[in-house]
Amino acid sequence: MKAKKIRNLFIEFFKSKNHQFVPSSPIVVKNDPTLMFTNAGMNQFKDFFLGNDVPKANRVANSQKCLRVSGKHNDLEEVGVDTYHHTMFEMLGNWSFGDYFKKEAIEWAWDLLTEVYKLPKDRLYVSVFGGDNGDGLDRDLEAFRFWNSIVPEDRILFGSKKDNFWEMGETGPCGPCSEIHIDLRNDEERNQIPGFDLVNNDHPQVIEIWNLVFMQYNRLADGSLKELPAKHVDTGMGFERLVRAIQNKSSNYDTDVFSPFIELIEFKSGKKYGKDEKTDIAMRVIVDHIRAISFTIADGQLPSNNKAGYVIRRILRRAVRYGYTFLGFQKPFLYELLPLLAENFGDIFPEIAAQQDFIAKVVMEEEASFLRTLDNGLKKLDQIKDEMSQTGSKVIDGKVAFELYDTYGFPLDLTSLIARENGYSIDEVSFKVEMEKQKTRSRAAAEQETGDWNVVNNDDSVVFVGYDFLDSESRIIKYRQIRDKKGDRFQLVLDRTPFYAESGGQVGDQGFLQNGAETIQVLDTKKENDLTVHFVDKLPNDPSKVFLARVNVEKRKSTVNNHSATHLLHAALKEVLGSHVQQKGSLVNEELLRFDFSHFAKMTDEEIIKVENIVNAKIRENIPLEEQRNVPIEEAKKKGATALFGEKYGDFVRVITFDKNFSVELCGGVHVPSSGVIGQFKIVSESSIAAGVRRIEAVTAESAEQLVNGQLSLLKEIQEMLKNPKDLKKSIESLVSERNELRKEIEALHLSQASLLKEDLLKQVENVNEINFLFAQANFPNVDALKKISFELKNETENLVAVLAAEIDGKPQIAIIIDESLVKSKGLNAGTIIRDLAKEIQGGGGGQPFFATAGGKDIAGLPKVLEKARLMLKGLYCK
Ligand code: ATP
Ligand code: MG
Repeated sequence: MKAKKIRNLFIEFFKSKNHQFVPSSPIVVKNDPTLMFTNAGMNQFKDFFLGNDVPKANRVANSQKCLRVSGKHNDLEEVGVDTYHHTMFEMLGNWSFGDYFKKEAIEWAWDLLTEVYKLPKDRLYVSVFGGDNGDGLDRDLEAFRFWNSIVPEDRILFGSKKDNFWEMGETGPCGPCSEIHIDLRNDEERNQIPGFDLVNNDHPQVIEIWNLVFMQYNRLADGSLKELPAKHVDTGMGFERLVRAIQNKSSNYDTDVFSPFIELIEFKSGKKYGKDEKTDIAMRVIVDHIRAISFTIADGQLPSNNKAGYVIRRILRRAVRYGYTFLGFQKPFLYELLPLLAENFGDIFPEIAAQQDFIAKVVMEEEASFLRTLDNGLKKLDQIKDEMSQTGSKVIDGKVAFELYDTYGFPLDLTSLIARENGYSIDEVSFKVEMEKQKTRSRAAAEQETGDWNVVNNDDSVVFVGYDFLDSESRIIKYRQIRDKKGDRFQLVLDRTPFYAESGGQVGDQGFLQNGAETIQVLDTKKENDLTVHFVDKLPNDPSKVFLARVNVEKRKSTVNNHSATHLLHAALKEVLGSHVQQKGSLVNEELLRFDFSHFAKMTDEEIIKVENIVNAKIRENIPLEEQRNVPIEEAKKKGATALFGEKYGDFVRVITFDKNFSVELCGGVHVPSSGVIGQFKIVSESSIAAGVRRIEAVTAESAEQLVNGQLSLLKEIQEMLKNPKDLKKSIESLVSERNELRKEIEALHLSQASLLKEDLLKQVENVNEINFLFAQANFPNVDALKKISFELKNETENLVAVLAAEIDGKPQIAIIIDESLVKSKGLNAGTIIRDLAKEIQGGGGGQPFFATAGGKDIAGLPKVLEKARLMLKGLYCK
C-alpha cells in the first residue's frame, strides 16, 4: 500500500465516524509565548482544551506537520542515527472535544490498524497508565477494560507517568494515555525474546506508532490536578512510522515516503545506501532535514541568528556538514531536492510547490554561505584534536567551541556532534559562559511567569467590537498576574472589547478602562492563541464592575492608515514586479509600515516610483472599503483573495477589498473606511533583508507630509545658501565644475612649485669625496611632494645622501634618501638613522634602508635635525 493511500484511508476512516477533516496548521507557531514550532497535532486545538474557544465541530481528524527539535520535545540527536525519529514528521490524529471518550477512541484505533490496514494483531502491544502516587492517581482501569475486551491481557502493559501520562506543558490540560506499539522483528528474534519485554525500551524494531491521550485534568500552577469539565480525546500517530509498519520495512527510510529522496542522493553523490553506516546516517540526515527546512521556510520562517530562525539554520548546517564530510558534497546540494519534495507533497501540502523557487533560493544561499567557512572550521577542529592528543584531554574547552560558533558559524550541537564522532566531548558550561559574555542583546522576551487565571464573571464568550466601535461597556471575565522583564503586570480578558490584539503585523491597541474616578491604562493588547489579553499595570479596585473601555484614537487612526496602505502596496508590487511577489512579513504601527516580500532583485528607482504612484492614485480614487465578515474560506479563495502561507485561517474568514480588481486580501486587521483617508503614501527605503527577500518601509498621512516637507525645506535652505539662483540645479552643476577646475589648477601650481623647489635644492648639493650631500629645510606643500621630490633628487644625482626637513600643516616632517650603492658600500640605513633624528622633533618614523620618513611635534627641532645629520654623516666626509 502506497503512503498516499495510507494517509487517505486514515482520513476516510474518521470521516465515516463523523469527523470533520481540518488542514494542518502552520509548522511555525505565532501568538504563543511557550512554543516556537508545532510539536504535536494538539497545538492548534489548545484553546478548545483550555476552554478559551468553542470548537465548530466536536469530532475532527487531521494530518499535522510537526517539528521536534527544540524545547520539551527534541529528537534532533536521534535523527538519522536511528531510523524512526524525524525532525519534521506528520502526525495523524483524531479528536473528540467533549464528545466520545476512551471506549470509542480505543475501539476505532484497533479497527483501523487491524481491519483497514490489516496489521498483524500478534505484533501489536498496548500500554495503559499505571497510576502515580505523587499525583494521587490510580491505574487507568477504565482504559484497561476497553482494551482487554479486544486484546489479550498478555499484550497490555501498565506504564509509568513518564510514558503514559501526557501533559501539554508545566500547566494546562493533561491526562492518562494509551500507546500502541508494534514489533517489527523477524520471527526468529521474536521467538527468542517476547516483544512485551522490549516495549518502550528504545529497540529500533519495537516502536510506538500511536498515542491515544485522554484529557481529563487541568494541571494548575501549584502542581495540583483539577478534573476538566468536559473530557477530550487527542490522538497522534506518526505517519512515517505507520507507513513503515504497513509496508513491513525495518526503517522509515525504506518506505516510499523517503526512498525517492535516498535514490536521488545516491545518484548525486555516486555512493550507495546500505553499504556503510556513516554514509547511511548522512543520507538519512539529509533527506530528513530538507523536509524540516523547506516546510519551515514555506511557512514563513527564514533562517536567521536568533530564536526560531536559528533553529532552522542549525538544522541546515547540520545537513550541509554531513553531506560535505561523508558524501563529498563540496557545493550546495540540498536545494536540488526541492523539485522532488514539491512533487511528493503536492496534494496534501501545496505550500512547497507554490514557493519552490523561493525556498530553493533561500536554502542555496544558506548552504553557500556556510560552505565558505565549513572547511576552515573543520581544519581548526582537526588542529585542536591534534593539540589535545598531546595532553590526553578528552574535553574540548567551551572557549574553542565558542570560537567555532562565532567565527565559522558552527552551531554548538554540530561541534558536539563532530567531537562525539571522534571520542571527545565539549565543556558546555564554559561555552555558555562565553556566550553570555558576548550577548549584548537582552534575554529572550519569552521568559514569562504566569499565575493562574482568576475568574471574575462566568462568561466565556468574548466579543471583539473594535471593527465598528472605539469604545464599549465591558466586564472583566478573568485576570491573572504575570512577571517578565518589564516587571509585574496583569492580563485581563474582557467580555466585549474594542481593543485590537496584535496580529497580522498590526500592533495591539492601547487605551484605558474607566469606572467612576478610577482609570486603568491598557498598555498593550495581544493574542494568546485565540484569546485577547489586555496588559495593565494594576488591577481595578473592584474587578467585577462594569467599565468603559476606550481605545487611544490617535494611535489607532495612524495605525489603520498604515495597514490599509500596506494592502495597496502589496497589490501595487504585484502589478509592477509580477505575481511571484509573496508577503513574507509585515509590521504596521502608528509611525510606519514595513512590508517584506519575495523578489530576487533590488528594485530600480523607476519601479519604486511606479509603485508609489499606483498607491497614491488608488488613495486619490477614494475607494470605499469593502469588508466582508464570515465568508467561507473556499468562497474567499474563489474571489481571488490573497491568503498568506504560514497563516492560520479558520473555516470562515474576513475579506478586505479595495477595488475588487486591485486588492482583495484575507485579513483580520482594522482599516480606513475609504482609501482617501490615507492622504498620502511615501516609500522611505527599499532594501534586502535575506536571500530573495526585500523590505519596503513607507509612511502615510501626516508622516508622509512631514517627510516631503522636510525635504522641501532642505532644498529651500540650499537655495538660500546659493543666494536664490533661478535655476538651482544649474548653479550646483556650475559650482561642482568650478570646483573641479580649481582643483586641477592647484595641482598644476603644486607641480611647478615643486620643480622650482627641486631646482633650488639641487643647487645646495655639496660634493665631498665623491659623495653628494644635501641637508636642507624647504617649503614642501605636503608629504607626498616631499616623497616625490626626494626620489627625483636621487634619480637625478649620483651617490646622493639627502636629509630634507619641512613644516607641513604646522607639523615637522623629515625624509632621508640614500643612493642604493651607498647603502651597500657604506652600510648605511635610512630607517635606523631617521629614528635617531626624529627624537629632535619629538617624533618617530621608519622605512627602508634607502628611504625613510618621520613626523613629529616640535617644529623648533628641525634645524637641530639637520645639524645632527651633518655630524652623524661627517665620518663619510673624511673617508
Ligand atoms: P517516542 O517515545 O518514540 O519518541 P513519543 O512518546 O515522543 O514517541 P508522542 O509524543 O506520543 O511520541 O507522539 C505521538 C506519535 O508521533 C508517536 O506515537 C510516534 O508515532 C510519532 N512520533 C513522535 N515523535 C516522532 C518523531 N520524532 N519522528 C517521527 N514520529 C514521531
Ligand atoms: Mg519522543
